[in-house]
Amino acid sequence: MQIQENVSLKNFNTFGIEANARYFVEISQEEELVKLFSNPDWHSTERLVLGGGSNMLLVKDFDGLVVRINIRGISSRIIGDTVLIDAGAGEGWNDLVNYCVNHQFAGMENLSLIPGSVGASPIQNIGAYGVELKDVFENCRAFEIATGEFKTFNKQDCQFGYRESVFKSALKGQYIIVAVTFRLSATPKLNLSYGAISQELANRNISAPTIKDVSQVVAAIRVSKLPDPSTIGNSGSFFKNPVISVEQFQKIIAQHPLAANYPAGNGCVKLAAGWLIEQCGWKGKVVGNTGTYKNQALVLVNHGGATGQEVYNLSSQIIDSVYTKFGVKLEREVNIIS
Ligand SMILES: Cc1cc2nc3c(=O)[nH]c(=O)nc-3n(C[C@H](O)[C@H](O)[C@H](O)COP(=O)(O)OP(=O)(O)OC[C@H]3O[C@@H](n4cnc5c(N)ncnc54)[C@H](O)[C@@H]3O)c2cc1C
Repeated sequence: MQIQENVSLKNFNTFGIEANARYFVEISQEEELVKLFSNPDWHSTERLVLGGGSNMLLVKDFDGLVVRINIRGISSRIIGDTVLIDAGAGEGWNDLVNYCVNHQFAGMENLSLIPGSVGASPIQNIGAYGVELKDVFENCRAFEIATGEFKTFNKQDCQFGYRESVFKSALKGQYIIVAVTFRLSATPKLNLSYGAISQELANRNISAPTIKDVSQVVAAIRVSKLPDPSTIGNSGSFFKNPVISVEQFQKIIAQHPLAANYPAGNGCVKLAAGWLIEQCGWKGKVVGNTGTYKNQALVLVNHGGATGQEVYNLSSQIIDSVYTKFGVKLEREVNIIS
């Protein structure tokens, strides 16, 4: 474990924003966390836990300690029809999905090609194409910074919601996830509820899809819709899809009959944030070095040399214009590091 000073984070965030960390340490074994935080100096220093940097916007240099989690290892246990997978927090999410798909373990295939690390996956309960992390989550092991102890969180403890968990709310900044255990199935139970998946399977003349087919179809859809961060810096969906009351929805749909919407339970409706943003004329707009992606207004991009502040300012402008037109306040999904 080596603590470095003044490290550029440009290659550690998928927005490709140039920002420096005052101190930077990479952790590859959980004991290193115990050692690091037993030092009172590091205990009291402001810190940022970093996985793949694919869900954060660095608005300025980070004047504290960046703790990059690189704890590796994947193993599996088959118990009857259930497969339990243990994965280190530093494993790449998509590497884990590929491991499961290649072993014919079912449950994660709809989450193919989501960037980032295993350790960050419970933080915002990642989700795509009708499946969320919580659907395959068994528990996670996390280091409590205040006490230096490890604790296991089960699904209930995590309080998962739409792009939410206890690690983003009540326990924000208090724990570092070091490993996650997943519960998958040894026999495929495919989730083809998303129209785009069944459509693409039909296009490929696949009538009896395998886990691998679904994974490949999801990956192909994602590649066609989302910019590759290695080419255009971005953090995926910048905003959450807003969940509003039925009453508010009735007013909006009366004026905008084409508003994309989905039932959200509890008398609420989820609107598509990308649609709202597009209606305000933002799709594909270039503003200085930043802008929104040409094929998906929900994705803010770095066209090259953008500062975090520029991207943040654009996101504020978008929030204001959606609020003015629809009376709906968009919430940022991306973690703002300022
Ligand atoms: C092109 C693109 C497409 C995307 N598509 C999706 C999608 O379909 N669905 C979806 O849900 N997300 C999507 N995302 C967002 C992102 O991939 C996920 O949120 C991912 O889980 C972030 O992982 P990360 O390791 O990069 O986290 P980071 O960006 O490094 O960190 C995110 C947050 O988690 C915290 N954190 C990270 N690791 C740990 C840890 N071990 N312990 C405690 N806290 C930690 C960080 O401090 C930060 O607050 C997309 C992003 C991109 C760039």
